Amino acid sequence: MAHYQGLIHRYHDRLPVTVSTPIISLNEGNTPLIELVNLPKQLGYDGRILAKFEGLNPTGSFKDRGMTMAVTKAVEAGSRAIICASTGNTSASAAAYAARAGMTCFVLIPEGKIALGKLAQAMMHGSVVIQIEGNFDDGMRLVQEIASEMPVALVNSVNPYRLQGQKTIAFEVIDALGDAPDYHVLPVGNAGNISAHWMGYSESVCQQTKACGLCNGQCPYHGAASATHRPVMLGYQAAGSAPFMRGGPVANPDTIATAIRIGNPMSWNLAWAAVKESGGWFDECTDAEILAAQKLLAQSEGIFCEPSSATSLAGLIKDLARGKIKPGGTIVATLTGHGLKDPDTAIAQSEAPYKVSADRTAIGALIQRYL
Ligand SMILES: *Cc1c(COP(=O)(O)O)cnc(C)c1O
Repeated sequence: MAHYQGLIHRYHDRLPVTVSTPIISLNEGNTPLIELVNLPKQLGYDGRILAKFEGLNPTGSFKDRGMTMAVTKAVEAGSRAIICASTGNTSASAAAYAARAGMTCFVLIPEGKIALGKLAQAMMHGSVVIQIEGNFDDGMRLVQEIASEMPVALVNSVNPYRLQGQKTIAFEVIDALGDAPDYHVLPVGNAGNISAHWMGYSESVCQQTKACGLCNGQCPYHGAASATHRPVMLGYQAAGSAPFMRGGPVANPDTIATAIRIGNPMSWNLAWAAVKESGGWFDECTDAEILAAQKLLAQSEGIFCEPSSATSLAGLIKDLARGKIKPGGTIVATLTGHGLKDPDTAIAQSEAPYKVSADRTAIGALIQRYL
């Protein structure tokens, strides 16, 4: 295959671009779909569980999928500056793609509740970082007002091009598996991503299936990234920040999973539609369950995702234990961001390193304890 050049290039025929669209890309997408080899057995599941590791995107989260589209379209429309509110990853991604495009980038972030790696990225890529005395939902309201009055393009997921880019994750999963999985699990914050997953899966159902309802995946109409069905969508929230479980906005969302610390999700209706049409559901996980899942994944499979991302697994563990998942199927879990984004949380929940003298005997005695 030719040099991979990013998801717009790869899926241009399914995205709102033309041959003259100036593509701004960092070769995002094409992330690995990693088969979990130890956890299914540990969790007593006889089917397959695969992790779509979005932490391996250029800035370390799935936000790059939407940002390549949003920034590309902003450039195409002649914008010189972009703005977003962010819990961290959107700002990191917007800052990187704006740098690539030679644009000015403004990011509004909640004071004090942003993971260290994400802040470093926004700063390093030269964006104008504005910490507000408020949370994400306050920032979201403010950037919408500002973008409607000033010459700056809004690149939060209310920008429809974000979801267009993000839907490509479903195409990649189908390309890798040859069909859609039975279940797709992911964390839900502002709810753009679950909506985009569903859009991607819905657009991939083989036209022949729609026409005759009999697709076996082998008909001549069944092209690349075509599926015979759509997965059941399961969206998991953090308990302290679970508006979909409460039935409406949450005033003061709080969770260690800062990327999903959002009380008033913008894609409310789209996310509900995804869950209902797919026969899925929402559920919530405590911070303790989220951190335990993050550690379990890191120590059982060698995959280090950030706390918000581990909500996928935390929720799945509960649903498997309750018998809500049918046996023998294929489950894909989106791991939305890389663990290195939030080193503070990782270190805080781990054993401190041993301190010993630089002495062969002392170190040998320590090692002996583990053998
Ligand atoms: C943005 C983000 C989410 C939440 O995605 P939404 O589209 O806002 O629901 C989850 N995890 C990580 C790591 C994120 O950056």
